[in-house]
Amino acid sequence: MDNISQTAKYRTLGKSGIEVSSLAWGMWRFAGDAGPAATLVRTVLECGINFFDTADIYGFKGPDGFGDAESLLGRIFASEPGLRQKMILASKGGIMPPLPYDSSAAYLTAAIDASLVRLGTDYLDLWYIHRPDILTHPQEIARTLDDAVQAGKIRAIGVSNHTTAQINALQSFLNVPIAATQPELSPFRLGPIENGELDQAMQMDMAVLAWSPLGGGRISDPQSARDKATTAALDQAAQAHNVSRAAAAYSWIMAHPSRPIPIIGSQNAARIKEAADAYKVQWTRDSWYDIFVASRGEPLP
Ligand code: NAP
Repeated sequence: MDNISQTAKYRTLGKSGIEVSSLAWGMWRFAGDAGPAATLVRTVLECGINFFDTADIYGFKGPDGFGDAESLLGRIFASEPGLRQKMILASKGGIMPPLPYDSSAAYLTAAIDASLVRLGTDYLDLWYIHRPDILTHPQEIARTLDDAVQAGKIRAIGVSNHTTAQINALQSFLNVPIAATQPELSPFRLGPIENGELDQAMQMDMAVLAWSPLGGGRISDPQSARDKATTAALDQAAQAHNVSRAAAAYSWIMAHPSRPIPIIGSQNAARIKEAADAYKVQWTRDSWYDIFVASRGEPLP
């Protein structure tokens, strides 16, 4: 049989030399009391997942406003200092409500410093521009990011929700390679597969981080005809390998030759543990394309 999925559990993040797990865990929905939150962080690490994804804007609707998810993790690090060294920690900046986006040198520099303070850490392993700011020249962004790397505040640079042209422009002014790109990518969102984003990532050797890999939860409650067809196709693969529909979805993403890293968004310990079943699924061209075609909603030419 034509097995196309051979995902290693650990791999290098682009050209950065940083070793990460091939499943990541996201903190967009990370909130609540520090005790249970710390238990969840330990559970993630026990699952062999060392790649943690947060952002300064996560939790901005919470009680303290902007920065809540980072502050919560910072409180956990303060009570268990050994935890920080066990993870590869990524954060993002550049979205500041109510202004949509700001990537000016002054804003980004202050945003990185503020994240470090909230997290109580000296450095971030990876720091992303969260969304592209149309009004900042990429040369200014590149200088800011290069300076942050030089200063030891960030080890590697990432971009999220950027077009291929925006990534090319930024890279042309940077002294170091962009290590990671983070598009929305899932069986419910095929855009990056078809619009060149994943091809560019392979060409430039950038790691791809897939945000909302389960469609932000749509996987459990498909509404549209296409979402229903996609989940039905996922169920076929899941049943064949005795794994959950979610594990089949993660593994479908990971089977793309750019080897995207799904960012698990679940805050439920059992669901996080079950994600490792993704490594059990063996895709053939037929079974992988079944899901692609179901999600596209029309046959391939
Ligand atoms: P997701 O995995 O697509 O969705 C997670 C949500 O689906 C959770 O609310 C989860 O609930 C729910 N869910 C329903 N059924 C599930 C099942 N069977 N298994 C697992 N979860 C199920 O991911 P996401 O939270 O939308 O995004 C993941 C991460 O991507 C975020 O944490 C963040 O780090 C990143 N992100 C980045 C951007 C960006 O612009 N760069 C944007 C959005 C997100 P439970 O918690 O109850 O399991």
